[in-house]
Amino acid sequence: MFGAIEAGGTKFVCAVGCDLSDLEITQLPTTSPQVTTAQAIDFLRASSGGKLQAVGIGSFGPVDLSPSSPTFGHITSTPKLSWQNFDFVGTVRAAFDVPIGFDTDVNAAALGEARWGAARSISDFVYLTVGTGIGGGAVVNGQVLHGMLHPEMGHIRIPHDRQRDPYPGCCPFHGDCLEGLASGPAIEARWGRPASELPMDHPAWALEALYLALGLANWVCTLSPKRIVLGGGVMRKEWLFPLVRGELVQLLNGYVQTAELTKNLEQYVVPAELGNHAGIAGALVLAQQVYQKHQVSQPQSVHQCKDSTRST
Ligand code: ZN
Repeated sequence: MFGAIEAGGTKFVCAVGCDLSDLEITQLPTTSPQVTTAQAIDFLRASSGGKLQAVGIGSFGPVDLSPSSPTFGHITSTPKLSWQNFDFVGTVRAAFDVPIGFDTDVNAAALGEARWGAARSISDFVYLTVGTGIGGGAVVNGQVLHGMLHPEMGHIRIPHDRQRDPYPGCCPFHGDCLEGLASGPAIEARWGRPASELPMDHPAWALEALYLALGLANWVCTLSPKRIVLGGGVMRKEWLFPLVRGELVQLLNGYVQTAELTKNLEQYVVPAELGNHAGIAGALVLAQQVYQKHQVSQPQSVHQCKDSTRST
C-alpha cells in the first residue's frame, strides 16, 4: 500500500492505495508547512492502517531533487515564504520511516500521464500545464529529466511583439517570459476577463496559441519529444489545440520533417487525459518507483501489493 501527496500552492491532494483505480483521496488547504503536512500525515496514517510501504510526493517548487545535496527533499526559493527551505521529505520520512519518492508537481503529472494517460507507451515526451502558472516536464527514454535542478519550462524567453501585444507580462522574475505572457493570470490581466469567460472567436486565443507554439517549437528542437501533452485549466478550451498545432507547423517551417509533425499532427500535440488527477496519479508512481528501487537494493524487505482491491 502506497501513500501519495500532490502538494500544490493552494491545496494538497493526498491519497492511499495500490493503483489509480482504488485510491482513497482527500484534499487539504495549503496553509503552513507544519499544519498542512501534519494533516497529510494524519490522513495517510489513518487510511493505511499503518501499512504504508512507500510515499510519493509531487511538490510545488522549486525543490531540491539532487540526492547528494544536503538539502535534498527541501522546497527551496518559493515565493510562498513560510515554505521556503522546508524539509518536506525529512518531515514525511520522520513520520513513516519508509522510502520517499520526491519530484516536482509537474514532473509527477507527467509520470501520471505516462502511466495512465495521454503518453502511455511513449518513451520521450513533454508535458506542459497551462493554468495559474506554466510548468513543463520532460520524459527522456522513460525517465523524468532532472539535470542540474529540474526544467522550468514556463520561464523560457520567447519573442514578444509589443506592437501586437503591449501587455508587459506578469512574471515577477522576467515579465514577459512564456508564463508571464501565456498563463491564465496573464490572459486575464491582458483582456480584463478570465480565460474561462473568453469566447472561441476572441483574439486572445490566436495570441495564446502563438505563445504556446513558440514554447513547443523550442522543445521540439531541443528535446525532440515524440509527443507533447498539454494540460491545465487554460487548455480546457479545446479550440486551442488546432490553433497551437497550426502555429507550431508554421514556426518550424518544414525544417523538422517527421510523420508526427505532418500526417500525425493531431496525435502529436494532444490534450492531457487525467485532468485534475494527473498529479496525484504521478505521486503514486513516484511511491511505486522508489519502493521498487528499495526492493532491488534491499531484497530481503520485499512486500507485494497482492491485489488492486483495497480493504479499509
Ligand atoms: Zn518567468
